[in-house]
Amino acid sequence: MSPENLDAYSQIFTTACDALLDGLTDALLLCDEHGAICYANVAAKEMFVGRELMGRVPQDLFPDSRFMQMIETCRSSGTSISKRLVLPQQLSPLGAKEHRGDNCWLVELAMLPAQAHPMARLRIMLRDLTAEHQSEQVRKDFVANASHELRTPLAIIQGYLENLLENGGLRDVTQAQRFLHIMDKHTERVVRIIDDMLMISRLESGEVALLRQEPFDFHSCVNDVIERLEHMIHSQQAIINTDGVDKKTVINGDRFYWTQVMFNLVENALKQNPKTGLVITLSASVTDGIATIAVADNGIGIPLAHLPFIFKRFYRVDTNHTNSSIKGTGLGLSIVKRAIEAHGGDISVTSAPRRETKFTIVVPAWKAISFLDEVINRRIQ
Ligand code: ADP
Repeated sequence: MSPENLDAYSQIFTTACDALLDGLTDALLLCDEHGAICYANVAAKEMFVGRELMGRVPQDLFPDSRFMQMIETCRSSGTSISKRLVLPQQLSPLGAKEHRGDNCWLVELAMLPAQAHPMARLRIMLRDLTAEHQSEQVRKDFVANASHELRTPLAIIQGYLENLLENGGLRDVTQAQRFLHIMDKHTERVVRIIDDMLMISRLESGEVALLRQEPFDFHSCVNDVIERLEHMIHSQQAIINTDGVDKKTVINGDRFYWTQVMFNLVENALKQNPKTGLVITLSASVTDGIATIAVADNGIGIPLAHLPFIFKRFYRVDTNHTNSSIKGTGLGLSIVKRAIEAHGGDISVTSAPRRETKFTIVVPAWKAISFLDEVINRRIQ
């Protein structure tokens, strides 16, 4: 091959290699024999955007002691190294662009043979694993919290059972009955936690894809909820105001989950405010293809400091809940949030204690809503 042809081939080859490396979603940096960066693919340039790369050492961009140690070891031993690094937000390679809190990276280092590249001696690859890390964390927290929540009532049941079995507890019938009632109450709690966990897991699994997407009469859904809570409403002498929910409100979605959403929100307002004088206001309206549904109450409210966490699993404002008379698992609002999100909507909350605590849901109301309004209206009348 003539020297001109060789030159041309080498040019084509270099361009093809660059295109291949630029096609990678992982950031790739190559360093020369002095440890300075001599090549960065497009993903690396995007990751470190606004920061000079060429001629700098990677440790300047990513000042983590484990990363520095990895470079040292790789260079001195010549062996490839691969590690998952979890970094605090301020040490993320994304710099000021990082808003996700703790971030996780797969870092791979390898020495390159001299013939592989005229300058590069060290290859550094960075893969963003933050999303996987976060969902792993959520799963771990869920298992830990669920075990803790189940362990408490089960330990109580076990304690009373031991009393009944070992200390001749069955001889004293009145006491035995009292123990059985306590055990029954805590068994109910175990069942409730498991039911709520199953509901969350259904919403998070592929089953969400099987959500019904059909128009239903929201007014009758609200009526069902009020009927189910009739006993509580009556005994607390609460006032339920549904003036805003007119018979024309049609939502597109799964009536089963919507009933659960409204049940949890109304039941929460009742549970948290057992004293008389509670007014719960339900409203629903559809404007420009967006349905806005709100549940408001004039009860004790949620302190400002707790509001950002209120939709988290197992989060409860009253932390002393095992002794609390208020029944709850801390899963109700996470079920609500997940069900709303599965419908393509969002939920937010504001709270001014004793004045108004308001959960507001916005969901897309399909374009056909006005046509459906008429159909449903005709059916209802
Ligand atoms: P729980 O099963 O404990 O009711 P949720 O997830 O439904 O769990 O609610 C979480 C926490 O939010 C409750 O423990 C309660 O402290 C607070 N909360 C929810 N709704 C209201 C409300 N309407 N008024 C006051 N506090 C509320």
